Formats: sequence, C-alpha cells, structure tokens
Amino acid sequence: MPILVTGGTGYIGSHTCVELLNNNHSVVIVDNLVNSNKEVVDRIEEITGKRPIFYEVDATDGEKMEEIFAEHDFDGVIHFAGLKAVGESIEKPLAYYKNNLLSTMVLMENCLKYKVNRFVFSSSATVYGDNEVPFVETMDLLPTINPYGETKVICERILTDLAKVNPDISISLLRYFNPIGAHKSGIIGELPQGIPNNLMPYITQVAKGKREKLRIFGNDYATADGTGVRDYLHVVDLAEGHVVALHKATPGVQIYNLGTGKGTSVLELVHAFEEATGVEIPYEIAERRPGDLAECYADATKIKKELGWVASRTLVDMCRDAWRFERNLE
Ligand code: NAD
Ligand code: UDP
Repeated sequence: MPILVTGGTGYIGSHTCVELLNNNHSVVIVDNLVNSNKEVVDRIEEITGKRPIFYEVDATDGEKMEEIFAEHDFDGVIHFAGLKAVGESIEKPLAYYKNNLLSTMVLMENCLKYKVNRFVFSSSATVYGDNEVPFVETMDLLPTINPYGETKVICERILTDLAKVNPDISISLLRYFNPIGAHKSGIIGELPQGIPNNLMPYITQVAKGKREKLRIFGNDYATADGTGVRDYLHVVDLAEGHVVALHKATPGVQIYNLGTGKGTSVLELVHAFEEATGVEIPYEIAERRPGDLAECYADATKIKKELGWVASRTLVDMCRDAWRFERNLE
C-alpha cells in the first residue's frame, strides 16, 4: 500500500521518498511545484531504481485531492507541502495561512473519509518560540512572531483536536531543527530560489563564487563566539526519521524533536565547511537579522528512547554532501 508524500519533490520530501522506496514502500507524490521541479522525480528514480507516481496538484484543492485518495489505497500520509520562508510569510500572511492550513485540513478530511490512519506532519522547532534551550517536547509553545511559525502551531493544534475524537488515527508531529546537506549521490538537495535565506545554501553559493561573501547576522549574541547557534542535522538522517516514525506509529498524538541535541554557531559551521571541503568562505559581520533567536537546539532524548532514532551523520558529512550537490548544479 502506497504512502502519500505531499511536497515530495521538495528538499526534505525528495530525500524521504528515497528512504521510503529503499524500505520497499511505494510512493505517490503530490506537489504543485511552487518551490521545486519535476526533474526531481527522475532523480529519485535514478537513486532508487523505482519511480514514484507523481501528481502536479495543489494539496489545497479538495476535489483533486479526493480523486487521488479514491484512486489509491494509502497506508499513510507524510505532509511536507507548505510555504516556508519566514520573511515572505510576514509580507504575505494570508498566502501562508491559506496554503499551510488548508492543505492540512483537506488531507485530514480525506484521511478520515478513506480511513488512512497514519499521518506525519512537518512541524518545526520554531513552535518553541523563545523558550529556554534545549527545547523539550513537554514545553508550552510560545508565540513565534511570524505567520510561518503560527501556521505550524495552528496545524499542530488542529491535528491534536482531530486525534482526540478519532482514536484510531496516529498523528506524528515532527519538529525539525535545521536540516542541511544532501543525498550522497549529489543529485538531490536544497534548491533555493533567488538569494538563499538559510545559512548552508548561502555558504555553498559563496564557495562556488556565485556570491561574494557570507554576511554573518550578528556576533554579539550571548553565545560562546557571539554568533547564532542552531542544531544542524543531515537531511538523510531526517528522512530516515520519517520512515521510523511511520513504522512505529501508534494511535494518538506523538510529538518528537528531530535534531542532534548539539548546538553549532555560525562561525563553527563556516569553519567546519572550510575543513571538510578545503574551500575558504570569506565573510563579514553584519547586523542581527530581525526575529532571530540567539540559540535553538533540541533535547533529542525522547525520539531516541521511544523510537530508537538518532541523527548520526556528522557536521563534516553535512558540509561535504551540501558542497557535492552545489558543485553538480549548472
Ligand atoms: P521545500 O519548499 O523544498 O518543499 C516543500 C514542497 O511543497 C515544495 O516542493 C513545494 O513545491 C510544495 N508545495 C508547497 N505548497 C504546496 C501545495 N499547496 N500543494 C502541493 N505542493 C506544495 O521545503 P522543505 O525544506 O523540504 O520543507 C518541507 C516541510 O518541512 C515544510 O512544511 C516546511 O515548513 C517544513 N520544515 C522545513 C524546515 C527546513 O529547514 N527546511 C524546518 C522545519 C520545518
Ligand atoms: N545566518 C547568517 N547569514 C546568512 C543566513 C543565516 O549569519 O546569510 C545565521 C542566522 O542568523 C542564524 C543561523 O545562521 O543564526 C541559521 O540561519 P537559518 O536561516 O539557516 O536558520 P534559522 O534561523 O531559520 O534557524
């Protein structure tokens, strides 16, 4: 029985499709290609030798989604489809609320109607807001100060309410920290449009000479070297985490952090990249970016204890693999 992967041609979705296919699941992708391209389906096939079924459909389109659910007997849904640029969400709040909430609601309507009892949701560490680090699943959620983060909080609440009255359904709320890196083949990875917002794609573009230098947003935070600290994990570890969450799903709501549990500063990541690749990254110190936290890293003990998952790939693996992917691009 196939797994429905919305957003399956995107960064995390494509890596998860590879892991699902490698674990003998068949995969149906729904993606409207707003932030990805169709060639990714060929790449997934190239890596795994198996071709996922692909629908170029908007996950908010109730009619088309129902047709897809009627056509396939899904065993589970992994819902990656969503808009994810924090800055853009402040400019276009309605687009973010509509896309991220409606897609989740349309999918859940169909899961209930067609009795699909396993649902995995892409949440984010952003739901913790400005809590004390490390972030633990039991913490109260704090305001996230941007519409993107609010969409994740609201979706978590909708899904939790649905689970209360549908006792057969299993909802996994996976809170990702900072996925970076790429598949070791170097043919799928993160493909930002325009100027990258995120640190690692910016670094790889500087390394390639596409951008002159990295701007480090603040070196006066209360961290060891003054630059922002994040919990970077390899995207393939993250993808494997989805397969484990799906296999070990039990009825009710399960919330898990997916991170390494270790914080790395911007400067540490720059130096790790230089060591892993031998390429120097010129940088300058710039103003803090509004809305940034000083530190964000996981308490990753719950998922290890309950599901046996740990993010084991190193910072060097992440840098080397991100660089291999960037070098393969035109
Ligand atoms: P991505 O943009 O690479 O992938 C998302 C995919 O969803 C894209 O292919 C896009 O075309 C598709 N999409 C968007 N809206 C759609 C819609 N209405 N219908 C169909 N397809 C649609 O992003 P990603 O980094 O792979 O993130 C996947 C999910 O994980 C997102 O929900 C994101 O919010 C969440 N997340 C990402 C990160 C991160 O650092 N990358 C961190 C935390 C959470
Ligand atoms: N960052 C930076 N320069 C950039 C992009 C990001 O200094 O061009 C910093 C940012 O301030 C943060 C860290 O790198 O401390 C990770 O940023 P990213 O946007 O990748 O992740 P997020 O802040 O969303 O966790």
